[in-house]
Formats: sequence, structure tokens, C-alpha cells
Amino acid sequence: MPPVTFLLIDCHAHLTHPQFSSDRGQVLAQARQRGVGAVVVVGEDEADNQAVLAGPGPGENQPAWLPFLGLHPDRWADTRHTPQGPQALPPAENLEEQLARVEAQIRENRHRIAGVGEVGLDRWVCQQQAPRQAQAQALIRLAALAKALDLPLNVHSRSAGRVTLELLREHQARRVLMHAFDGKAGHALEGARAGYLFSIPPSVLRSPQKENLVRALPLESLLLETDSPVLGPDPRGRNEPANLPLVVEAVARLKGIPPGEVAERTTATARAWLGWAG
Ligand SMILES: [Zn+2]
Repeated sequence: MPPVTFLLIDCHAHLTHPQFSSDRGQVLAQARQRGVGAVVVVGEDEADNQAVLAGPGPGENQPAWLPFLGLHPDRWADTRHTPQGPQALPPAENLEEQLARVEAQIRENRHRIAGVGEVGLDRWVCQQQAPRQAQAQALIRLAALAKALDLPLNVHSRSAGRVTLELLREHQARRVLMHAFDGKAGHALEGARAGYLFSIPPSVLRSPQKENLVRALPLESLLLETDSPVLGPDPRGRNEPANLPLVVEAVARLKGIPPGEVAERTTATARAWLGWAG
């Protein structure tokens, strides 16, 4: 494979996760060595957003750290899935207050952040009507805030692909990235026609559903992500931004085009989505 000459952009990663607390600098340096020029680091709640804002810490030759602040839909979870079957969880508390504080964090840090996320809907861990409605209200509010501030939006949708796309379109959300979309390729294609982007994680190497997504969507609708520390090539291993070139190779194979073209086009699309000239 010829060398990748365009720096890649990892459009969704959780680098504040405790799994990176001992070697974050090394993980970033390794990603930079493998051609990753920037990483979108998404926040999951108020405390995590603070860690995202604090940045990567010391280290040399690191990719750019692009902070996104959000409130993850799994905070409304009413169900935990275990090998023995689903278990009911107690109702989440004080999320309405936290949502207001996250909105304030986003406004206050408007000029320090690159976007809004992680936000979205998760019907796998949210099975009841009331928490699902609260998730949807939070998504509507955070998508409206992103639009008002002209920031890109980083969206999670699990067992909720079609309903998330419909909600975003109904509320005329803009600059939308659907990350690790697990829905039908046909629904994704409708989203792509509405201008939404879809980021592909390294789990494409072991997921026929993600392969279908890559085949169905035009190259200009595709971005790269790792969702580190999860969705790696091996489901048991820690995923890292250094795995991003694996996605380039998989997309190139599925599309029948050179890896360099995938790298160049996805980076151009990511820069336009981010409004990022760095
Ligand atoms: Zn995520």
C-alpha cells in the first residue's frame, strides 16, 4: 500500500476514558506516527466535558485535540444488558439540571470547542417511554444549540437509527455526523441525501452491517472514526486512534478505490464539517 500522504482525522474518540489515563501521550504520539493529524474528543457528561476541555496533557508530536462537549444518551439508561439477560436500572436523577449545566458549558466555551457531542438516542439501554422522551428532548435542545452557535454535531444512535435521523431532520439540525450508525443502509442513504455524514469505525473489519453502510453511501458522505476505546478491530482489545488507517484500507477495499483517495476525500470532508483550517 502506498504511504498515506494526507493526515487523517479521527472524528469520534473518548480519549478521556480511564483506559487512557496512564499512557494518553504515548497513544497520541503513536496515532500521529500513523498519519492521524487530529482527533475529535467527545464528552459524555458535565464532568467528562471538563476533562475534554483540560486537553491531552504533555506530549510531543501529538495530533490536534478537537474538544466536543455533550451529554451521552446512555445517561438516561433504564436497562443494563448482562449475559443473564436485561436488568432494570433505577431512574436516572437530576439529568434535567445537568442538561442545563452542559448547555451553559457549551455556551461559555464556545470559542474553545470544536463542536457539540456526544449527543443522541439509545433505545437499547432505554426501553421505556419516559426516558426515551427525555433523551429526545435533550437531543433537540443540544442540536438547536449547536445550530445557534454554528457548531458541528456528533450524534450517537443505537437501535434508533431511523428515529434519530427523522428527529434531526424534523428539527432541521445542521452539520450532522452520525457516528457508528447501526441502522439500515437505506435509512443512512436518506440521511446522506439530506446532507448528513456517517463516520466508519475499525469494527467495519468484523461487521457486515458496517460493510453494507460503506458500500451504500457515497464516498463524500463518509468520515473516519475510532470510537476509542471501543469498536476496535478486535472487540476484546482497547481501540486507539492509531487504528484509523485500518478504516482507510477497509473503505478503499469495499469501494474499489486507492487508499490515498479515501484518505484525501475523508480528510477534506472532515475539515469542511469542522470548519477547521488548522
Ligand atoms: Zn462515543
